[in-house]
Amino acid sequence: MSSPIEPIDRFDQFELSAALLETIQELGYEAPSPIQAATIPPMLAGRDVVGQAQTGTGKTASFALPILEKLDLSDRQTQALVLTPTRELAIQVAEAFQGYARHLPGFHVLPIYGGQSMSIQLRHLRRGVQVVVGTPGRVMDHLRRETLSLAGLRTVVLDEADEMLRMGFIEDVDWILEQTPAEKQVALFSATMPDPIRRVAHRHLRDPHEVKIEARTATVATIRQRYCQVSVQHKLDALTRVLEVEDMDAALIFVRTKIAAAELAERLEARGYPSAALHGDMTQVLRERTIEQLRNGHLDVVIATDVAARGLDVQRISHVINYDIPYDTEAYIHRIGRTGRAGRTGDAILFVVPRELRMLHTIEKATRQPIERMQLPTREAITGHRLAQFKQQVGEVLESQDLSFFQEVVAEIEREQELDIHDIAAALTWLAQRDRPFRFEDDIPLDAEHSSARAERSRPERDARPEREGRSERRRDRPPREGGRESSRGDTVEAGKVRYRIEVGRDHGATPQNIMGAIANEAGIEGRYIGRIEIYDEHSTVDLPDGMPKEIFQHLKKVRVRQRMLNISMVEGAGAGPEKKRAARAAPRAKTPDDEHKPAARKPSKRSPARSTADS
Ligand code: AMP
Repeated sequence: MSSPIEPIDRFDQFELSAALLETIQELGYEAPSPIQAATIPPMLAGRDVVGQAQTGTGKTASFALPILEKLDLSDRQTQALVLTPTRELAIQVAEAFQGYARHLPGFHVLPIYGGQSMSIQLRHLRRGVQVVVGTPGRVMDHLRRETLSLAGLRTVVLDEADEMLRMGFIEDVDWILEQTPAEKQVALFSATMPDPIRRVAHRHLRDPHEVKIEARTATVATIRQRYCQVSVQHKLDALTRVLEVEDMDAALIFVRTKIAAAELAERLEARGYPSAALHGDMTQVLRERTIEQLRNGHLDVVIATDVAARGLDVQRISHVINYDIPYDTEAYIHRIGRTGRAGRTGDAILFVVPRELRMLHTIEKATRQPIERMQLPTREAITGHRLAQFKQQVGEVLESQDLSFFQEVVAEIEREQELDIHDIAAALTWLAQRDRPFRFEDDIPLDAEHSSARAERSRPERDARPEREGRSERRRDRPPREGGRESSRGDTVEAGKVRYRIEVGRDHGATPQNIMGAIANEAGIEGRYIGRIEIYDEHSTVDLPDGMPKEIFQHLKKVRVRQRMLNISMVEGAGAGPEKKRAARAAPRAKTPDDEHKPAARKPSKRSPARSTADS
């Protein structure tokens, strides 16, 4: 194994099998991220690990690769269990495992989470899966039913432990850990380390190797830093909009992998932006040639990986675009330092997908500068920009070119076809923009264009995911309840929501967090769609989107919080319609027959909840 003093900057320094190294190469990962460099060796050595890391740092691979390395693929017992706070993360982690295991025949992983059909999970569990990735509630369910056996377990990972705490799952996590064999490896990852998480670590981890990636601070005064919130699928469109309207000399665009660099260069070319990739798999000669072209202005857009752009010094770079967010602040500072060279000013634009908002905040702290939110240029703005450019070109051509031959051509058209000069000019204008129409169209839906303008910037230190933001706000804003008395505020149910009653309350130990966590995971309702939660002594109320499908409603009845079935029912008179908007007051009366519940469409989930990655 590599000695601890030797800096790790290549994957082949880890004791990983050829199959895993090949996958990493195929995925185009150039170098381990800092959390990977620090975590993979102790994980491979079998040590417990506490890693202070958040999403976007590459932490999934830092536990997935050592787990895969140590699996016994001839054995179908569950050898590793990963607990995640949400079903989305469970699916994502399971997919990451599947991806890293592409050259490991016989590997099986299963995400298990509430809201997914039990029978699918049971079928896969019966066949055997070496890695289970699940939310605490559902994992507990399976353990109680004895449909999941942890007898062969060797590694447990607690992913986003602080999120599990926030969602009220920490006691469940404790309980699950108690069901695991005494001899095992535990890795705990958390963006923050509040006391309850430290206590879990203290109780369940043995002499853990602690990894904390320190944020180096630096000021970068001459660089204007902005960020733009985009969804993953609209990143390319967003990039072309930015390239279109920013007043730039040359742009250096950062991505995470060699493959992404090559692909993005190709896709930009296809959209009419001459560009080249710069990554570690290119020969030195080719890299130097690309840098020279950028330097002398033959090329304006280069897409680079961190490794390839190390030390790059080209004064023309007016813009650094972080297409993929960097792993840590050090990489960010290095990246944006590629602009603003030699006393010039520079622009740095960071693309942030919602789950990376927390990283954004970490970066802001490290650079000691706020990163200003930037709105994506609208289609109208781009159309306007193109028109303005065209008008300017027309003026320039009139001033600089001898147009006598062309004036004759126009005069001929006018004469021969008896046309109005304006009509001729309009037709020629159309021809001039045919290959690159003035009217700009792309795939970013209009509402997404504007929603970013509406959306309040979230406070990532409170909550990494914007979809949970509403919930945090709600909890914070709520006036304190008087002990034991039910709320007497006559608050209304917001439009589009329905108030439900659940049979677990303060006396049972319920908190808004664990109600929220259970409903979000079991009903597959994103946190932001869950409305007000009111806790009473023996019951609670929760506002959920109108039109919950019957099966979900039925399922929620049986979901447990604090060991009690929710037995959810709709509160009479508290529907979404205007006439129903008056909420149920202190002691809401419940509708009893289920069939009074009228199911309609649920907000479609981005992924199919029934999808399992166990079939490969
Ligand atoms: P995570 O923080 O685990 O959610 O990972 C964030 C993203 O970084 C994922 O899309 C990974 O595929 C990618 N990634 C992880 N490690 C590396 C690496 N060493 N090089 C390039 N990309 C990586």
